[in-house]
Amino acid sequence: MGVPAGRDVRVSLTWHGVGATDRGRRRRRNEDALLLEPEMRLYGVADGMGGHAAGDVASRIAVESMAVSFARVSPRIGGGTLSRRLVDAFEVVNRSILDHATSHPQCSGMGTTLTCLAPLVSEPRCVVAHMGDSRAYLLRGDELAQVTRDHTWVQQQVDAGVLTAGDARRHRLASVLSRVLGTPEVGPPDTFVLDAERGDRWLLCSDGLSNMLPDDVIARLLIGHGAAEQAGAALIAAANEAGGMDNITVVVLDVNG
Ligand code: CA
Repeated sequence: MGVPAGRDVRVSLTWHGVGATDRGRRRRRNEDALLLEPEMRLYGVADGMGGHAAGDVASRIAVESMAVSFARVSPRIGGGTLSRRLVDAFEVVNRSILDHATSHPQCSGMGTTLTCLAPLVSEPRCVVAHMGDSRAYLLRGDELAQVTRDHTWVQQQVDAGVLTAGDARRHRLASVLSRVLGTPEVGPPDTFVLDAERGDRWLLCSDGLSNMLPDDVIARLLIGHGAAEQAGAALIAAANEAGGMDNITVVVLDVNG
């Protein structure tokens, strides 16, 4: 049988992504938002902040504006071009949040994190773009690696050798962000172009997960559940059992053959 015209025969990876969000046990509202656009090949997590219910406005604008911007991106571009398109889309998202805050004074000062993953069609790779302290982790085999670096004050102190990672985790300023969408002149997100392999499992999450669970527990739960849906549910349940101090959002993405 022939290959349909235009189909790329070099790449046989498929991506299966699921997401879930939970208010947690302590917060009255859920200010996180999920981005699940499998047909657009775009996944993400946003964690909003701001008084008077503006946090959920910021995170919702982020995922909606991201999806609208990304819908215009051709799916068959390479990794470098896709990175630039994501950087452009983050700029649009930032402007959308600022514009909304200008026209809605009750939303003044709102902001949001945004961590996105976009699988490429043309090659077995993906692009991660990231602003704030929501994270992307890659589980390959039994090894869990944190791909993103938090844009937080404590991470800056760790990078400078002032604090250890353990100090940073317990620090009273651990949640203070150094970069967040909704800020004038925030600059581009961090972007990473990474090879994808069959069997890879990606996790995108808000800090309501990563602050509640150490990496070894996250790894164990990702390894211990075959279906992405079950892994996501187990992560949220474990974060709640650990206290559920904040809203908890996860996207689990499997790379299949
Ligand atoms: Ca949070």
